[in-house]
Amino acid sequence: MKYFDHAATTPPYEDVIRTVGEVMAQHFGNPSSLHRMGEDSGKLLSKAREVCAHALQVNPGEIVFTSGATESNNLAIRGAMARYRQRGNHIVTTTVEHASVYETCRHLEQQGCEVTYVPVQANGAVRVEDVLAAVTDNTVLVSVMHVNNEVGAVQPIAEIGRALKNRHPRVLFHVDGVQGFGKLPLSIQDSRIDLYSLSAHKFRGPKGTGLLYVREGVHLTQLLTGGGQEGGLRSGTENIPYIVGMTKAMRMAAERQPALASHWSKLSRELHEGLAGLPGLVVNSSPDGAPHIVHFSYPGIKAEAMLHMLEEEGFLVSTQSACSSKRSEPSRVLLAMQKGKDCSLSGIRISLGEEHTEEDVRQLLGAVKRTMERLQIVKGGNR
Ligand code: PLP
Repeated sequence: MKYFDHAATTPPYEDVIRTVGEVMAQHFGNPSSLHRMGEDSGKLLSKAREVCAHALQVNPGEIVFTSGATESNNLAIRGAMARYRQRGNHIVTTTVEHASVYETCRHLEQQGCEVTYVPVQANGAVRVEDVLAAVTDNTVLVSVMHVNNEVGAVQPIAEIGRALKNRHPRVLFHVDGVQGFGKLPLSIQDSRIDLYSLSAHKFRGPKGTGLLYVREGVHLTQLLTGGGQEGGLRSGTENIPYIVGMTKAMRMAAERQPALASHWSKLSRELHEGLAGLPGLVVNSSPDGAPHIVHFSYPGIKAEAMLHMLEEEGFLVSTQSACSSKRSEPSRVLLAMQKGKDCSLSGIRISLGEEHTEEDVRQLLGAVKRTMERLQIVKGGNR
């Protein structure tokens, strides 16, 4: 089986698996304990914070460890809206955010917040001017993802961040960096980002751990109350093994990013060219998007049918994003890109990993072609 679903999750590095096991067995002290085992775990935690901060080129005191990006996104958005209530109640975001941002905004709307969902262009990217035009005197937060998890569209984060700081310096800028980290370069400082979310399992770290970068001077209301860990922002005993495992993966992902991006870009170009040559297929991603995501639709055929036939051929791909793939609804992202219902029901995402070769890509293209031929019969029968 060839795994082409790295945007859903990635296999942890061997070194990460080993480290998690070692830390779990040998350093199980609670970092809040005053004895030497607590101190030992506390040191590991401080070191981990330093390594993550170094990978992101921020200060260690600006890193809050969480259970992953869903929590980080919730903490950033809910925490900012609660803390800065006196500034206003308006959020600006986009129509193509991950559910952990989108559904959080929808929930906050029910609680009295106002949300503007800025539409995207046909390629899935927002225009900087459209985001800025949505900001009002009442806006507290702008939240835009770096890379879209379904189609790999890259948002103009640096341009949005700089323009916001120029024109609306009090408005906070949150970026869901989950699909961008380790894939594309992004400077938190140069992009004037205030809040930045990551999940470790998207860059070969363990699941159930992640972080939120909180710029010094930005204050959030905590979601979890309790022992006051993580500077009071995230109560609960820290998951030291996974946090240390994440730092290993983070360091490797940051180091390997330039080489991997050029490797993936090459494979992505081949995939895009190959798919574009298959009549009846609609390619929704672009070779200029994130290098690891390729997305297409075969209108008239439910995505699940294609996915399972590709699985029979030995290839594991995805429909929509992993967390919405169990619902057979049209993709919100493809609808936002004006792709129409047929296209939005038949989307297939291919996402690349480090191990993939040109030969893998050629075999996958062959499998897509054969699957289409088999499905042609179904399509014909449906008419
Ligand atoms: N944001 C984006 C863009 C994602 O792709 C995901 C996961 O698919 C998340 C947030 C949520 O990450 P997690 O499920 O690890 O909390």
